[in-house]
Amino acid sequence: MNRGISAPYLTAINGIKEYNAVRSERDGKKPSAFVLTLGCQQNEADSEKITGMALSMGYTLSDSPEGTDLIVVNTCAIREHAEQRALSLIGQYKHLKAVNPDIIIAVCGCMTARSERADLLKNSYPYVDIVFGTASLQRLPEFIYDRINGSKRIFAEDDDYSVAEGLPIKRESSFKAWVSVMYGCNNFCSYCIVPYVRGRERSRAPEDIIGEVRDIVGEGYKDITLLGQNVNSYGSETGGKFDFPGLLESLAKIDGDFTLRFMTSHPKDVSDRLISVMAENERVAKHFHLPLQSGSDKVLREMNRKYDSQKYLGTVEKLRAAMPDIAITSDIIVGFPGESEEDFEMTLEIVKKAEFDMIYPFIYSPREGTPAARREDMIPDAVKSERFDRLILLQNELSKKKNEAWLGRTVKVLVDGMSKKGNGLYTGRTDGGKLVHINSEKVKIGEFTEIKITGADTYALYSDEK
Ligand code: SF4
Repeated sequence: MNRGISAPYLTAINGIKEYNAVRSERDGKKPSAFVLTLGCQQNEADSEKITGMALSMGYTLSDSPEGTDLIVVNTCAIREHAEQRALSLIGQYKHLKAVNPDIIIAVCGCMTARSERADLLKNSYPYVDIVFGTASLQRLPEFIYDRINGSKRIFAEDDDYSVAEGLPIKRESSFKAWVSVMYGCNNFCSYCIVPYVRGRERSRAPEDIIGEVRDIVGEGYKDITLLGQNVNSYGSETGGKFDFPGLLESLAKIDGDFTLRFMTSHPKDVSDRLISVMAENERVAKHFHLPLQSGSDKVLREMNRKYDSQKYLGTVEKLRAAMPDIAITSDIIVGFPGESEEDFEMTLEIVKKAEFDMIYPFIYSPREGTPAARREDMIPDAVKSERFDRLILLQNELSKKKNEAWLGRTVKVLVDGMSKKGNGLYTGRTDGGKLVHINSEKVKIGEFTEIKITGADTYALYSDEK
């Protein structure tokens, strides 16, 4: 069940707007808000809604916490380190409350959905005003309104997981956009905290997604990424009424000059229909991020991934047969509990066979609250590091080879910024998501351009034709 804007939401927005108007008058400047985002793309997308709501409430946006009137920290819980970082940053805001007792400090995101962390914030961070979970995002104005009207500190547990539609969004970019298609995850991979902090899968209605994409294409957005923890199971809770290939096909029919991407996919759910929709629709980027995690069937079983190496490689083969130029990228965890040298070598083997364009390798670290964290056969750090280095070495060779295959070809690229290398170069991304450094004065940020690839290394492509 999805819900629209509620009456309490509107009352709160209007109430805070009035409150902020009075303060603007008094102080000669509008109150400002600072939103800090930690973690993944889903958090970035959520923060764009928080920022949109802050603007609706009459705040201006600040890029620093100093001197602001509202701070919202959107936290991540994927690793212990991410939580420690969030807590340390929140710790730095204590002095801001001392300077300005009216400041409102709110903390949300995956970390706050863990009761032990919410308790810690309650007991050890008395200057934090509001703590709320990922499914209560749309209630932020209500919480702020209550707090400015003198309520006690607010600790809201998620109790309504229906999808909220109609929230304002202030997108970070003027040409790249995230569009969430579903929330939560049902998979319970044994190392992952996400299902515990983001709840079960629930999908947005296709008409809401199609409307949002149509609107942003109309505004000139060129690169649209559909987001979900497992986009392939989009619509599964509707008993097959709608599904991800159908959604992608409908979105690809929207008029305009844009590219559609999606992430993340679970290998157990990639269907032949999805592959043919990708192959048949020019607007769908020829890039597939397909997290492998391990090449050992034993480790995959213990990770509760529900596919084996054979099935995984079969999907890679189908993708390449349907789209010979497709870029395939992956996530790999090194040093899962009990991973033997033989298991790890199976991972190297599958990496060679799959010929990934790029991988995101992770060294396993136990995530409290997950089954894998309770295992007693942890791999020593030195062994994990040594395996990690071997994996990187292998992938670097493969990435270089994959990139060199583009030499001399003319490709369509979305120019997305200035190169950090300085000297006036632009950067862009190919359809397959590869980074290109472009040495040309003729290109424009936010526009597609056709360029010839004249150089390639492990990490990027280069275009030097002026
Ligand atoms: S599919 Fe697995 S790794 Fe991905 S979010 Fe769900 S539980 Fe975590």
